[in-house]
Amino acid sequence: MKIRDILKESVKPFPSLEIVPPLKGLTARELNDSIRPFMEFAPKYINVTCHRDEYEYRASADGGFSRHLVRRRVSEVAVCGTIMSEYKIEVVPHIICGGASAEEIESKLYDLRFMGIDNVIALRGDSTVGEKRFTPVPGGYRYASELVEGIRSFEKEIGEECFSIGVGGYPEKHFEAPNIETDIENLKKKIDAGADYIITQMFFDNSVYYDYVERCRKAGITVPIIPGLKPLSTAKQLSMLPESFSLDIPVELTELVRNAGDDKAAVYEIGTQWCISQCRDLLAHNVPAVHFYTMGKSENIVRILKDCF
Ligand code: FAD
Repeated sequence: MKIRDILKESVKPFPSLEIVPPLKGLTARELNDSIRPFMEFAPKYINVTCHRDEYEYRASADGGFSRHLVRRRVSEVAVCGTIMSEYKIEVVPHIICGGASAEEIESKLYDLRFMGIDNVIALRGDSTVGEKRFTPVPGGYRYASELVEGIRSFEKEIGEECFSIGVGGYPEKHFEAPNIETDIENLKKKIDAGADYIITQMFFDNSVYYDYVERCRKAGITVPIIPGLKPLSTAKQLSMLPESFSLDIPVELTELVRNAGDDKAAVYEIGTQWCISQCRDLLAHNVPAVHFYTMGKSENIVRILKDCF
């Protein structure tokens, strides 16, 4: 079923999840076991992130260097297939522009259609190590809006509307955008190109999300805007999350974590309770759904789901 229709038909907010494909070496059974604890809360879909191939250069005997593909994780397509064979749940593979030409992406779309996958998230992806700005490969897409257009024209070509398309939104602005207004104008390009809904980057202050939704509505964006949450789980994340995702951690949460000192269990509890209160407040504001970034962890998310859904 398409997420667009799930969103239309649902009468109350529901949870959804995002997982990262496991590192190579894990088995399908281990992957499915790691997802099982979430299932009693009836999440409507599971998103599976997509990771760009990396290459490393190794010195060879002749004094030169040779290029080697380093793929650390199982592919998102394999993960989706594994989940589909075990659970009755919609899977949503992420597709990124980075590292792939339009033709390679089209070939992936054929695979997804063949597997009976009805949904994708269209993203640009980040620059690779050593690249200053994101650069598409020759024949690749520059922006997620171009990817959305590409998916919609693939569908026209084959005469079938295969996918509901989600895109990313940044309540605290994408780090490359000069200001939030321009970023929202660019977000609208993704919707105008045919995206059905938005999932936001994680945030720790709900007022940031409410303000973003209001700005988007004023800019003429009418599709559902699903809030994305991640519970803080270690003190290190106070610096790591802002650095990786260009977001703010509220002063109150920062102080609570700092006051817990070296007590890791206390920090974990603070992060979980903070996320529970964020989630309760979002539900009270009747958001369409709440999307959880699991990042390979289940215990804290399960506790939040138990408390809120
Ligand atoms: P875009 O929408 O293309 O925007 C990128 C930048 O370009 C923004 O600053 C925007 O304002 C600007 N821009 C957009 N269009 C134009 C235009 N026409 N002209 C000028 N400027 C423009 N990354 C992964 O690698 N794998 C994942 O699985 C993944 N999942 C994610 C899931 C969610 C819900 C989110 C929010 C992010 C995810 N990311 C993932 C991270 C994402 O790839 C990065 O944040 C990336 O830097 C931007 O992707 P985007 O799709 O938002 O890009």
